[in-house]
Amino acid sequence: MLSKDLEKIEDLQVRKNVSLLPLTSFRIGGPAHLFLVPRTLKALEQTISYLGNRSISYKVLGQGSNLFINDKGVKMVMTLAALNRIHSPPGHPFRTVSVEAGCRLKSLISWSTRNGLCGLENLSGIPASVGGAISMNAGADKCSMAEAIDAVQFTGPDGSCWFRRDQLQFDYRFFRLPDNALISAARIQLGKSSPDQIRRNVRKVMYKRRTTQPVGKPSAGCVFRNPPGDSAGKLIDQCGLKGLRIGDAEVSKKHANFIVNRGKASAVQVMDLLKIIRERVKKEADVELVPEVSIWGMET
Ligand SMILES: Cc1cc2nc3c(=O)[nH]c(=O)nc-3n(C[C@H](O)[C@H](O)[C@H](O)COP(=O)(O)OP(=O)(O)OC[C@H]3O[C@@H](n4cnc5c(N)ncnc54)[C@H](O)[C@@H]3O)c2cc1C
Repeated sequence: MLSKDLEKIEDLQVRKNVSLLPLTSFRIGGPAHLFLVPRTLKALEQTISYLGNRSISYKVLGQGSNLFINDKGVKMVMTLAALNRIHSPPGHPFRTVSVEAGCRLKSLISWSTRNGLCGLENLSGIPASVGGAISMNAGADKCSMAEAIDAVQFTGPDGSCWFRRDQLQFDYRFFRLPDNALISAARIQLGKSSPDQIRRNVRKVMYKRRTTQPVGKPSAGCVFRNPPGDSAGKLIDQCGLKGLRIGDAEVSKKHANFIVNRGKASAVQVMDLLKIIRERVKKEADVELVPEVSIWGMET
């Protein structure tokens, strides 16, 4: 009944039993029983209105790089991957760029570089959709998405609406999302530079990332938030937990705040590893680590 109704929405692709494992960087997780792909903003609005009016909950999938999904899967997932256009909106100076939430951060940075627009270089190498990067306020080296944001468009059961930067609340790896809404687009404010200079900066950031993170191995990025004034990775390392392994889930030997999937790690194995890490850090450093990853369908 539900899927039949949804199939009537024009430009909405409705798929059943879609494996989420290949859609996450961790390569862990069961299927989505219903998987929704709106191809236009109108289809997205109609879908959210339909679901909202019936109080049907769903999960939003970006690029799946900060997600940890249970082995049984989840009921309904929506991806905005087909909403990925970038353009300079009329009436705005050229340095303001409009981008749909499903666009990959990497594509946005490449587009900006080609057009001589700087400001996002420090975020190079963060695997993310623009919507996911805003919702997590992704960042590195004291820079974060928040600094580049001019406005965000939310879509909820009552339609879409733009909010200016001064109406938005960002914090360290935090963004306040209105209830029942998702991020459907954003306006980004950039500076002017030469494409060659931007490329050089991007290369530097990428080099640092390759030398300090287990890039290339399946993971969900940093698992825990840094406690105020401290580093979660350093605390885990000081407990001697690098290399600790349960099944195929392992505390990275390169960066202790990463758990890598060495093959066929299950969600249960990762949860067990998280538990041990939290207990050890609490016991030895008296610090409560709080997960940074979004966890779907499991208690921490
Ligand atoms: C190798 C590696 C390195 C990483 N390095 C960094 C780093 O340096 N800095 C950093 O901050 N992060 C880092 N991460 C984590 C990750 O890249 C970021 O958190 C990123 O912002 C996640 O974006 P995503 O599109 O993949 O979101 P997803 O993982 O798909 O989703 C994350 C959360 O955002 C929500 N979400 C996604 N899209 C939307 C939307 N349109 N509207 C509302 N909610 C939405 C999801 O529901 C979920 O709760 C790294 C990850 C990996 C694997």
